[in-house]
Amino acid sequence: MSDLRRTSVQDLLRSTELDREVLVKGWVRTRRGNKYVQFIAVNDGSGFNSIQVVANAEQFPEEKLKADGVDNGAAVAVRGKLVASQGKGQSVEIQAEEITVYGTADQDAYPLQKKGHTLEFLRGIAHLRPRTNTFGAVLRIRHAMSFAVHKYFNDHGYFYIHTPIITGSDAEGAGQMFRVTTLSDTKPPLNEAGAVDYSQDFFGKATNLTVSGQLEGEVAAMALGKVYTFGPTFRAENSNTARHLAEFWMIEPEVAFFDLQDNMDLAEDFLKSLVRYALEHCPDDLQFLNDQYDKELLNRLKFVVENDFQRLTYTEAVDILKGAKQKFEFPVDWGTDLQSEHERYLVEKHFKKPVILTNYPKDIKAFYMKLDEDGRTVRAMDVLFPGIGEIIGGSQREDDLQKLQQRMQEMHVPEEDLWWYLDTRRFGSAPHAGFGLGFERLILFITGMANIRDVIPFPRFPKSAEF
Ligand code: ATP
Ligand code: MN
Repeated sequence: MSDLRRTSVQDLLRSTELDREVLVKGWVRTRRGNKYVQFIAVNDGSGFNSIQVVANAEQFPEEKLKADGVDNGAAVAVRGKLVASQGKGQSVEIQAEEITVYGTADQDAYPLQKKGHTLEFLRGIAHLRPRTNTFGAVLRIRHAMSFAVHKYFNDHGYFYIHTPIITGSDAEGAGQMFRVTTLSDTKPPLNEAGAVDYSQDFFGKATNLTVSGQLEGEVAAMALGKVYTFGPTFRAENSNTARHLAEFWMIEPEVAFFDLQDNMDLAEDFLKSLVRYALEHCPDDLQFLNDQYDKELLNRLKFVVENDFQRLTYTEAVDILKGAKQKFEFPVDWGTDLQSEHERYLVEKHFKKPVILTNYPKDIKAFYMKLDEDGRTVRAMDVLFPGIGEIIGGSQREDDLQKLQQRMQEMHVPEEDLWWYLDTRRFGSAPHAGFGLGFERLILFITGMANIRDVIPFPRFPKSAEF
C-alpha cells in the first residue's frame, strides 16, 4: 500500500480515469450488505459525499470485517480498484483489495449512531459532531465563506488589518466586556478606594477582550484608505438567544472618503457576492442542508442575489410598523430601538426582501456615528435579513473633532482613553464609513441553520465553555 499515493474522496468521485488502483483514507460512515458482499461508505471530510467501497465476501467475510472493527466511526485505509458503479447513487466505487484499520470505534460506546441525532444532543458532543453530515457541511461552508471574504476584499483593493484582541479602552460602546488580568484571584492589590488596583496589572491598566476592531480600523483607514478586519470579538452580554454568542467573528471594512450611500452599496454588493460564492462553490453541502432542514434555503439564497435590498429610514420604518395590523410584544415608538420582531416583520412580511434601515435616532446608537443635519438622527445603517434580523450594523463616522467630542461628553465616553482615536480627527480628518458583519449570522443565513451555536465549531455562551 505504501508506494500508492492517497487520493481524496472528492477527487475520486469526480474522476473519469477508471479501472486503476487507488488508495483512500477516511472514516467509515456506514457498513451494510449481506453474506455475499459488503458496502462500506468512507468519508474523509473532503466533501459531502462518501465513496462506496465494495468488499467481496470471499475476501472480506462480514464476520472478519466486524472482528477487525470496520464499522461506523472507524478510521481506515482502503486500497482497491476504482470502477464504474453498478448501483445507483454514485458513479464510481472502489472494489476493495486491502483494508487497514487505524482506529476502531466501539459500537456500544460510540455516541454517533447511524440514526440521526438532534442538534441539541450534538451540542453536547461538540468534539464529535464535525463527523456528522450536518456539521461537515456547515464547517466546509464556513471555510468557503472565510475565503470568500478575503477574496472579495483583496479583489477590490482592501488591506487586511489585524486589530488587537486585548484592548485598553472599555469605551467602544458595544456591550459588556470580558476582563483580562494576571492579578491574583485571592489577593489582588487594592487602591485607596478598596477597588482592585489595575495599575499593578500586566499592562499597567485595566484591559478587556475586544468587542470590535472598528476604532483601530478607522486609524488604519486614515492611512491605507480601504481596510478590513476579520477577527474574533467578545461580548459578555447575557443574551441567551439563538443569534448571540459570547465569542464570535466579525468582518469590519472601513473606508476613507465613503459616505453612508457608499457604505450601503458596499454592504449590499459584499453580501450578494458572498451568497453567490456559496451557491457556486458549495452546491453539495447546500443541497443537503436544503433537503434536510429548510426546503426554502436555496430559493432564499438565489432571491437575495437577484433582488435589490429595500432602503429606507428608521423614521419611515417606524411609520410602517405603527400602521401594521400585526400585534407586537414590544410597542413601537420613535426613539426606541427596534426589536427583532419588528425587524423581521419589515423583512419577512412587509417588504419580503433584505432591508437597509438608515438614520436612526442618535440616542440609541454609538457615539462615533455622524450626526445628521437635523441634530436628532445619525448616519447609521443596519442591514436586516430574513430569518436573521440584523446581520450588519454600520455607519458613516463623525469626522468633525468638536462634534465628536460633544457626543462623547453627552454619552459619558472618557476622552483620556481615546486620545489616540481623537487624533485621527485632529490630523487630516476625512469623511469615512464602515460596518460590522457578524460572521456567524452570515453563516446562519447561508446554511439555513436555526441556532447560532450550530454554525461555529466550539460555541461560547453563558455557562458554556466546555470544549
Ligand atoms: P444585536 O442588536 O443583534 O445584539 P448589535 O447591535 O449589538 O447586534 P453591532 O454592535 O452593530 O451589533 O455588531 C455588528 C454585527 O455583529 C451585528 O450586526 C451582528 O451581525 C453581529 N453581532 C453582534 N453581537 C453579536 C453576538 N453576540 N453574537 C454574534 N454576532 C453578533
Ligand atoms: Mn448586541
